[in-house]
Amino acid sequence: MLLFTPGPTPVLEDVRLAMAEPTLHHRTPEFEAIFKQTRERLFKLFNMEEVLMLASSGTGAMEAAVINLCRQKALVINAGKFGARFGQIAKAHGKELVELGYEWNTPADVEQVKAVLEEHGDIDAIFMQVCESAGGLRHPVEEIAALAKAHNREISMVADGITAVGVEKIDTKDIDCLITGSQKALMLPPGLAMMGLSSAAVEKIGEGAGYYFNLASEIKKQQKNTTAYTAATTLIIGLNKMLEKVEAMGYDKLYEETALRGRAVGEALKAIGLKIYPQNPAPAMTTIITDHAEAVRKLLKTKYGVNIAGGQDHLKGKIFRINQMGLIAQNELAWVVDSIEKALDELGVRSYDGSANAAFNTTFFQLGRA
Ligand SMILES: *Cc1c(COP(=O)(O)O)cnc(C)c1O
Repeated sequence: MLLFTPGPTPVLEDVRLAMAEPTLHHRTPEFEAIFKQTRERLFKLFNMEEVLMLASSGTGAMEAAVINLCRQKALVINAGKFGARFGQIAKAHGKELVELGYEWNTPADVEQVKAVLEEHGDIDAIFMQVCESAGGLRHPVEEIAALAKAHNREISMVADGITAVGVEKIDTKDIDCLITGSQKALMLPPGLAMMGLSSAAVEKIGEGAGYYFNLASEIKKQQKNTTAYTAATTLIIGLNKMLEKVEAMGYDKLYEETALRGRAVGEALKAIGLKIYPQNPAPAMTTIITDHAEAVRKLLKTKYGVNIAGGQDHLKGKIFRINQMGLIAQNELAWVVDSIEKALDELGVRSYDGSANAAFNTTFFQLGRA
């Protein structure tokens, strides 16, 4: 089965093999050397002043950011499942909260954010997604970060980049905390969260807050190439291997190829009459809105050996989402769009004529050559 959900993504063979070595104890010079190397590589990935690895899924890092970086009041941008999650975390910790809600295809409005910041002078942290994976939507996070800093430099800008880090170049100039997880663009098994921090964030964290997710204790330990609690050793070994591969390829090339895949899949699906859901699509995935979403997904799974994601909540049965993150073979994606065209034929929606693959391959050929 080809795994084409926007997380989890497949794990490459050499990364799987790197993780198959005998278990290392985490408090040993051998593991600390690997930790150090991985940490150095993460600095390049995040392009920020501090980096942390946490043994948890991505949501753990979201919770850590809320606990450690919001002291007074949070502004949460909610345009989907993951934006809503920041609000739920803030509530669970008794934080005061203002939420700006949007339909799942609609990017946050910079002017509205400005108005909220002016009305609530006590907001000290903003939480939002770079890419809201619920609808494959790219938010104007850099613009909002710049606005927030111009309004008040003390505001911490927290960006959930779980489907954006390793997908595209993110301008971190005004971002204080950027989060990712292992099972998306980094193509690792789930269970490891990573974050980049600005020095302003490190300063604000101070003594930290919470217990397991007290970032002050992690910063102190990780600067010495160890962790406060048992490290996710196997996943970190896998991460080191994956980052080595990505570095060999070069980040610019990775981002370029991911964007190209996004363009090619979008063109392929538009060519067979399908409609892109988000107003501002993120390069991590292509999200299609169609009444045939569930039927297409089912046929892909049962007949063509392809697993793509559906929608959640009010978009259940209305959208499907195809992953473009990571190191993906062009021929596999070509098969995915061709399978969708075949499924539409089988469902009596549109006769098959190979248009999806023609558009996919032509886009790849023309843009990939440029
Ligand atoms: C997948 C995802 C998460 C959740 O991460 P978990 O690893 O499932 O905890 C959060 N935010 C975004 C944008 C995601 O895509």
